[in-house]
Amino acid sequence: MGKVTGFLEHERQDRGYADPKERVRHYKEFIVPHPEPAIKLQAARCMDCGIPFCHSGCPVNNLIPDWNHLVYESDWKDALASLHSTNNFPEFTGRVCPAPCEAACTLNIIDQPVTIKSIECAIADRGWREGWIVPEPPERRTGKRVAIVGSGPAGMACAQQLARAGHSVTVFEKNDRVGGLLRYGIPDFKMEKHLVNRRAVQMEAEGVTFRTSTEVGVDVSFASLKENFDAVVLAGGAEEPRQLAIPGAELPGVRLAMEFLTQQNKRNAGDDEVRAAPRGSLVATGKRVVVIGGGDTGSDCVGTSNRQGAASVVQLEIMPRPPEKEDKALTWPHWPLKLRTSSSHEEGADRDWAVLTKRVVGEGGEVTGLECVRVEWRDGRMEEIAGSEFTIPADLILLAMGFTGPRKAGLLDQTGVAYDPRGNVAADTVSYATSEPNVFACGDMRRGQSLIVWAIREGRQAARAVDEALMGFTELPR
Ligand SMILES: Cc1cc2nc3c(=O)[nH]c(=O)nc-3n(C[C@H](O)[C@H](O)[C@H](O)COP(=O)(O)OP(=O)(O)OC[C@H]3O[C@@H](n4cnc5c(N)ncnc54)[C@H](O)[C@@H]3O)c2cc1C
Ligand code: SF4
Repeated sequence: MGKVTGFLEHERQDRGYADPKERVRHYKEFIVPHPEPAIKLQAARCMDCGIPFCHSGCPVNNLIPDWNHLVYESDWKDALASLHSTNNFPEFTGRVCPAPCEAACTLNIIDQPVTIKSIECAIADRGWREGWIVPEPPERRTGKRVAIVGSGPAGMACAQQLARAGHSVTVFEKNDRVGGLLRYGIPDFKMEKHLVNRRAVQMEAEGVTFRTSTEVGVDVSFASLKENFDAVVLAGGAEEPRQLAIPGAELPGVRLAMEFLTQQNKRNAGDDEVRAAPRGSLVATGKRVVVIGGGDTGSDCVGTSNRQGAASVVQLEIMPRPPEKEDKALTWPHWPLKLRTSSSHEEGADRDWAVLTKRVVGEGGEVTGLECVRVEWRDGRMEEIAGSEFTIPADLILLAMGFTGPRKAGLLDQTGVAYDPRGNVAADTVSYATSEPNVFACGDMRRGQSLIVWAIREGRQAARAVDEALMGFTELPR
C-alpha cells in the first residue's frame, strides 16, 4: 500500500475527454491522459484491502493493489511485469474494458472507486513508450503445432501464451487484418488500430504465424487443420447477428451495425471505397439515423454516425430506462444495472427506452420512417401500451441488437462439435475441450457475446489447457 492515508486525502480524478465539438471531427482517440504525478496520487487511493474484491471483479484477475503500490513507488517497470503476468494486452483493456473491477472496488461502497482502468492503461502505455515491451520468444521449441481459428482477443491471447510455451502456432483469420472485433467492431475513436498492429508484430517475433484472408471451412478445410496440427483452437467469435423480423426490414436502408462500423474502420485504415465496401458504401452523412439497440454496439453506431455528419441520431432500447444510480448496498461488488452514458452519447443522440419497433416505413424503395410503440415490463413480460404508437422519421436504420452466437455455416458445420443449449460451442472452462478430440474452443465462440477482457481470460486459460493436453504438464498460468 503506497500511502496509508491516500484514500482519505485524494479525490477520484479520472482521465478527461477532448471537447465533443472538437472530437467528432475526427476518428482518433480523444482521451486526455493524466500526467504522471496525478496518476501516482490516484494509485495512492488504493487501500490494499485484506480481501481485494477488485481481483475477482476483474475477469483476468489483475493484481490491482500490487501495481497500484508499484506505481505510487514510481516502479513502473515492475508494475508492468505484474500487469502482464495476468493480462497479455493491458493497453486494450485500459481503453475499452467497462471496468467491472471498479464496481467491485471496496472504496466504491462509500466513496468513488480507484481509477483502476486508467492506471492500467498508463502502465501499459508507459511500457511501450519506454521500449520495455519486447518479444519474449521461448527458449525451447516443443515441435508441437497448434492452429487457432480467429485472431480476436481470445485467439491472440491464446496464440501468445502457446508460442511462449514453445509451440509452433498458426492463426487463421478470414479478414484481411488481424484483431477480430478489436479491428473491425470497435471504432478507432475508442481504440486506434496501431495498438493491435504493434502486438501482432510482437507475436510474430515470438513465433506466431498469421494467415489472414483465410477462412477455415472455405479457403482451408477443417479436416486439413486436424491433419496438419496437433491441436486446433476455435476462437471465431459470436458473429451471428440478431435480425429484425418486422415488415419493411428488407429495405436497403435497414443495415447491420457491423457492416456500418466495419466500413468506417476500413476507411480509417486507408482502404479505398471499393475495398472498404464491396456491397456499396454505407454512410450516415446527412441522414436521419435510427439505431435499434441500446448497448455498446449501438453507442458505437451513434459516435460513428455523428462523425459522418448525420442529420439526427436516435437510439432505441426495448428494455426500460435503468435507474440513474445503483443501490450499492444491494449491488456491490457486482456489476450494477444503471444508466450508462457513453462518450458517444455525450456527442449527441436522442435516447429512448421501452420502445418496440413495429414496421419500417418506405417510399419508392427507400426507408422514410420507423413505426414504434411504447411497452411496459411486468414480471419480465412485455406489454404494448395501447394508443402509444408513434413514427420516427428515418433514412437509415442500424441494427445493433446483439449477436445470437457463433456462425455455424462453413467452419463449425465441418467440425462436428457439440453445442450448449444457447448454441455456443460446448466446452468447460477447465479443459476448454470440445466434443471433438484435440479441438478446443474459447472466447465468444464458447461463451457467447461478451467482452474483450473475458476473451483474453479464455484465450489464456485455453492455452494452458492445450499445453497440458499436448505435453502432459503445463507451467502456463490459469
Ligand atoms: C461493435 C462492438 C463494440 C464492442 N465494444 C466493446 C468494448 O468497448 N469493450 C469490450 O470489452 N468489448 C466490446 N465488444 C465485445 C468484444 O469485442 C468481444 O467480446 C470480443 O472481441 C470477443 O473476442 P473473440 O476473440 O472471442 O472474438 P472476435 O473478436 O469476434 O474475433 C473472432 C475472429 O475470428 C474470425 N473468424 C471467424 N470464423 C473464422 C473462420 N472460419 N476462419 C478464419 N477466421 C474466422 C473473425 O473474422 C474474427 O476476426 C464489442 C463488440 C462489438 C460488436
Ligand atoms: S482488465 Fe478490466 S476489469 Fe480488469 S483491471 Fe483492467 S479495467 Fe479492470
